[in-house]
Amino acid sequence: MAVGGLTPLSTTDWPGKLAATVFCRGCAWACPYCHNASLREFGAGERPWPEVLAWLETRQGLLEAVVFSGGEPLLQPGLAEAMRQVRGMGFHVGLHTSGMDTEALARVVPQCDWIGLDLKAPRAAYGRITGVAGSGQAAWESLKLVRASGVEFELRTTWHPALLAEDELLELAGEVAAACAPLWTLQAFQPEGCAHAELGAAGHAQVPERLSASLQEVLGGRGKLVVRNEADNAQDVTLGGILRNRTQE
Ligand code: SF4
Repeated sequence: MAVGGLTPLSTTDWPGKLAATVFCRGCAWACPYCHNASLREFGAGERPWPEVLAWLETRQGLLEAVVFSGGEPLLQPGLAEAMRQVRGMGFHVGLHTSGMDTEALARVVPQCDWIGLDLKAPRAAYGRITGVAGSGQAAWESLKLVRASGVEFELRTTWHPALLAEDELLELAGEVAAACAPLWTLQAFQPEGCAHAELGAAGHAQVPERLSASLQEVLGGRGKLVVRNEADNAQDVTLGGILRNRTQE
């Protein structure tokens, strides 16, 4: 386990649970809005895993859960064993993942009590957001796996209007509805931690109420939409050529 950081107490990383969050290093995708850009590089962890376990021992009875986040936790060879250890200490286990490696996800799903699964875009636009051809297929295969597993899950999408047009977001809503996901959280882009100069400088994005209503309409009764806007100072931006060289699926 290459651990790049640790949040000792979070009430939001697994909504409804008091959790510690373990941030794993490394990611093979390159979403422009990534707010953990410093964790994307592969490399040695700043905190040895035994040290994290020793700290977690001091939190037994105080915290309910441990969430593995990143970066992309599925790329850690020791993830399943780390989850087993954490569960053995009496914690519930949560996972934040993009679902980029469905086989790795299948290996750890039995250890998970909750999964926050990213959905970046409708299938046709996936590679444009991640910079990687075939990423959409992996993500949607992972969604199928998680649904079939019976593990509680939530779909999560980060949205910036300069990266994904409103009609594409509506298309994604149709795909979410078809997948019968119980909960879809739409998070407006936040600049904190984002390494992309133009996005970072542009400030917070905001999901307009009329768009939220249209998305809920597309979902119908087939899922609940939660919209998270963090700021009221949203502004329109155009990102000149930001995606020009990205791989299209
Ligand atoms: S998949 Fe997640 S960690 Fe990787 S670049 Fe995208 S947002 Fe960042």
